[in-house]
Amino acid sequence: MKIAILSQDATLYSTRRLREAGEAQGHNIQVIDYLRCYMNITSHRPSIVYKGKPLENFDAIIPRIGASRTFYGTAVVRQFEVMGVFATNESQAISRSRDKLRCLQILAKQGIGLPVTGFAHATQDIDGLIETVGGAPLVIKLLEGTQGIGVVLAETSQAAKSVIEAFRGLDANILVQEYIKEAKGADLRCFVIGGKVIASMKRQGAAGEFRSNLHRGGRATKIKLTPEEKSTAIRAAKAMGLGVAGVDLLRSHHGPVVIEVNSSPGLEGIEKVTTIDVAGKIIEYIAKNAEASKTRDRIKY
Ligand code: ADP
Ligand code: MG
Repeated sequence: MKIAILSQDATLYSTRRLREAGEAQGHNIQVIDYLRCYMNITSHRPSIVYKGKPLENFDAIIPRIGASRTFYGTAVVRQFEVMGVFATNESQAISRSRDKLRCLQILAKQGIGLPVTGFAHATQDIDGLIETVGGAPLVIKLLEGTQGIGVVLAETSQAAKSVIEAFRGLDANILVQEYIKEAKGADLRCFVIGGKVIASMKRQGAAGEFRSNLHRGGRATKIKLTPEEKSTAIRAAKAMGLGVAGVDLLRSHHGPVVIEVNSSPGLEGIEKVTTIDVAGKIIEYIAKNAEASKTRDRIKY
């Protein structure tokens, strides 16, 4: 099969591994910098041009869209979909996952466990908002933050109020969330491919840090998930319409809660910690599903 990896940088670990795994399984793999693609969207034969040449006859794409490039990246993915090319994650699903609020609303509708979360526009009734999530301590999050940046723990209502006012003063959209203290600065990354959890790891935040992001100094180790954790991760990926997803869970007193569903989960941490060939499993998933390629997304939100 002819497979394109949509990635800004061919030297990134995840991109390299996907190319290696694809070639090892006998496929023709091309890494395409989606920011350098341009499109004819109106022609009867929609097309994408890359470095002066039309991209043709691809069987599948693996979108690895950077968080700050969601708008253009999803437009390129959508153009491939219009051309009938199978995508491991479709444009709609990527957009959905990039907005934390939209993601949580969809998961809540499916009855999936979540931290109690509030969202508001105006700051006149901050006390009410804080009350909604059970008061301080609480977590405040920028809607489109990544790598732990824009996630703040407010220990007191007063601190929460100041932070919310400051963010809103900058016109930033924020979520206010129950603080899951019992997670003790750790979360679980569940790597889901085609409705199965194929690898998982626990990330523990650095000493004194409640955020477990590896970019913030967190450490990853192998972990065995409970059946409930597994099924929560699988249901979350399905609810979001993602074929490949990194579902992040916290272990709370009220069971596993989903904090985030990532549509371009990194491969480096999970492959190194688990020694599982995650890239190979993504390629196998494509080989199995690309044939029947059609737009499969039937989620309304
Ligand atoms: P980002 O997209 O920046 O990674 P997350 O929502 O994943 O943002 O939050 C970053 C980290 O902060 C999580 O991995 C987790 O360790 C911690 N965290 C996030 N939300 C909560 C919460 N409600 N309670 C406790 N810890 C949290
Ligand atoms: Mg995260």
